[in-house]
Amino acid sequence: MAKAIEQLLVLQACDQDIQRLRRETDDIPRRKQQIESRLAAQQESLAHAEHVLLEKQARIKNLEGDIESARNQIQKFRDQQLQIKTNDGYKALEKEIATAQSVIRKLEDQELEAMEAVEAAKAEVADCRAALAKEQVRVDEEVKVFLARSEGLGGELQAKEEERRALAAEIEPAWLARYERLFAKQGDAAIALVEHGTCGSCHMKLSPAQVVDARKADTLTLCDFCGRMLYLGS
Ligand SMILES: [Zn+2]
Repeated sequence: MAKAIEQLLVLQACDQDIQRLRRETDDIPRRKQQIESRLAAQQESLAHAEHVLLEKQARIKNLEGDIESARNQIQKFRDQQLQIKTNDGYKALEKEIATAQSVIRKLEDQELEAMEAVEAAKAEVADCRAALAKEQVRVDEEVKVFLARSEGLGGELQAKEEERRALAAEIEPAWLARYERLFAKQGDAAIALVEHGTCGSCHMKLSPAQVVDARKADTLTLCDFCGRMLYLGS
C-alpha cells in the first residue's frame, strides 16, 4: 500500500470524525426542540383538562340559575293563588306549580351528575399537573446533559480540526488535493478498501488489472464505478 494512502486513511478517519461532530452540532436546535416538545404535549393536556373543568363548573352554575328561576316561578304562582277567586283558577295554578317542581327535580338530578363530572375533571387536572411536573424534571435533566454535550462538541471539533491540519501538512499536496476533491464529491469517504475483488464502498466488481494496480505502492488507482481511491489491506 502506498504510504500516501496510509496517511490519507488516517486523514479520512479524522475527516469522518469532523463530519460526525459537525452534523451533531447542526442537529442541536432540532434535538433540543424535540426534548422540549414533550413538555409542550403535557402542557397541552393540562390546558385541555383545565378547560373541561371550567366547562363543567359553568354547567353547575347554569343549572343553579335554572333551579333558582323555577323556584321564583313557584313563589309567583303561590302569590297568585292567594289572590285568585275561582276554584278552577286555583287548580290551574296548582298544576303549574307541580310542573315547575318536577322541572326542579330533574334539574337537581342533573346538578348531581354535573357535580360528579366536576370531581372527575378535578382529578384529571391533578393527574395532568403531576404528569407535567414529572416530565418537567425529566426534560430539565435531559436538557442539562444535552447542553453539557453541546458545549463539549465545540472543543472536540476544534481539537479534531487541529489534528487534521497536522495530518494534512504531512501529505504530498497532489494526493491531498485529489483526496479532498473526492471526499467532497462522495460526501462520506474518498478511499475504499478492495474486498474480494470488489470496491468496498460501491461494492462493484473490479477488473483484475485494477486489483493489481491497487496493490502498487506508487500509483493511484481509482474505482471505475464510484471514482474512489482504491487500496488493498496489508
Ligand atoms: Zn467503487
